[in-house]
Amino acid sequence: MGSSKEQEQERGQPKCVWVHGPIIIGAGPSGLAVAACLSQHGVPCVILEKTHCIASLWKHRTYDRLKLHLPKHFCQLPFMPFPPNFPKYPSKYQLISYLHSYASRFSIHPRFNQAVTTAQFDPLSGFWTVRTQDFHYISPWLVVATGENAEPVIPRITGLDVFGGPVVHTSAYKSGCEYKNRRVLVIGCGNSGMEASLDLCRHSAFPFMVARNTVHVLPREMFGLSTFGIAMALLKWFPLRLVDKLLLMATSFVLGNTDRYGLRRPKTGPFELKNATGKTPVLDVGALAQIKSGKIKVMEGVKEITRNGAKFVDGQEKEFDAIILATGYRSNVPTWLKGCDLFTEDGMPKTPFPNGWKGENGLYTVGFSRRGLLGTASDATKIAQDIANQWTTLKDTNNYRNSHIILLKNS
Ligand SMILES: Cc1cc2nc3c(=O)[nH]c(=O)nc-3n(C[C@H](O)[C@H](O)[C@H](O)COP(=O)(O)OP(=O)(O)OC[C@H]3O[C@@H](n4cnc5c(N)ncnc54)[C@H](O)[C@@H]3O)c2cc1C
Repeated sequence: MGSSKEQEQERGQPKCVWVHGPIIIGAGPSGLAVAACLSQHGVPCVILEKTHCIASLWKHRTYDRLKLHLPKHFCQLPFMPFPPNFPKYPSKYQLISYLHSYASRFSIHPRFNQAVTTAQFDPLSGFWTVRTQDFHYISPWLVVATGENAEPVIPRITGLDVFGGPVVHTSAYKSGCEYKNRRVLVIGCGNSGMEASLDLCRHSAFPFMVARNTVHVLPREMFGLSTFGIAMALLKWFPLRLVDKLLLMATSFVLGNTDRYGLRRPKTGPFELKNATGKTPVLDVGALAQIKSGKIKVMEGVKEITRNGAKFVDGQEKEFDAIILATGYRSNVPTWLKGCDLFTEDGMPKTPFPNGWKGENGLYTVGFSRRGLLGTASDATKIAQDIANQWTTLKDTNNYRNSHIILLKNS
């Protein structure tokens, strides 16, 4: 997959690499999907990945018990469904094995250990220069596939630095087995906070989950069907607000009133909120039952962390052995993408889905739609088609080759 020409610069300087085709940054599902779609159009590419493997998020920054939140047919990448013998909700290990088969089927061979430090467009030459510690890569096209979850968010909480026990972000949490019989404060009540609390319960720990903000908890399935699938089907026929209302009515029938357990619902419906803010509803896989039984205690906001525990905004004070920060992730795009206004300062595309995939000057984004792997598949297909249209025209012109030779001489 892909091709490039490397030219040694002065000794000690990074080598310059002319990339024949687009540069894709990131070898997660999104980068792989774009590479596979490009290969179907006969367009080569180079994927730059900062770690030593594909799917590094799934391999190194997720907990052992994690399964896909959505049924597998909503998470498959273009041109290759999940194997029929995989369960409806594949485990993270099954997803990783699927991604390896995907890379191998489309002959995708990323360049590993290439952490991109800057990427910048030069309007004079019309090329992107992408810098890593080893090389300067040059191409007319740049595909940003570094993910919405590139960096853990560590909030500023008074006293966190004086806490005597371990403090771990969910990206480093693997399993509750290390916390047996321990009292653990889980800060955050999104999917990660709920699932870490559930996992802790199953390993005989005592989780206290902080629900400072409102949250929509929906059952993962209703009446034997995936809640997400039901919502997608209803949205084809009914307006968003009506779909939200119907879902919340069914949810209250299945789960009861979650406000009673300290999980206050936002006023805006789950899918309207998701579209407006990107905030994902929690798809319950068992945590709510543990909350109802009192095994997971729900706490209001933390006022302050102390050496041995925490003080809460309702005046309670409790001792804890460990803290888990289920406080989410952020994009890292603003740290390396320079001189372009496609992204907000939070590193998300300014234009919302379904139109955020294309910027100016050959810049593309994949996997930033806040729609998980479903959004990735949609972005990747469009990006590959768009680049393929230009590729057919460009590769036949002498200008393409000539211009890169000039560029390499000058750089
Ligand atoms: C706990 C958890 C559970 C999830 N469950 C689901 C689910 O069930 N269904 C679903 O659809 N989605 C789920 N998601 C969302 C999930 O992150 C995405 O669907 C998927 O991993 C996105 O793929 P991606 O390739 O866009 O990003 P990533 O998987 O994050 O891949 C980005 C890649 O870019 C690399 N990279 C980053 N910065 C640089 C750089 N500067 N230079 C070079 N390389 C770089 C990273 O190392 C990484 O390999 C979940 C996320 C989390 C955290």
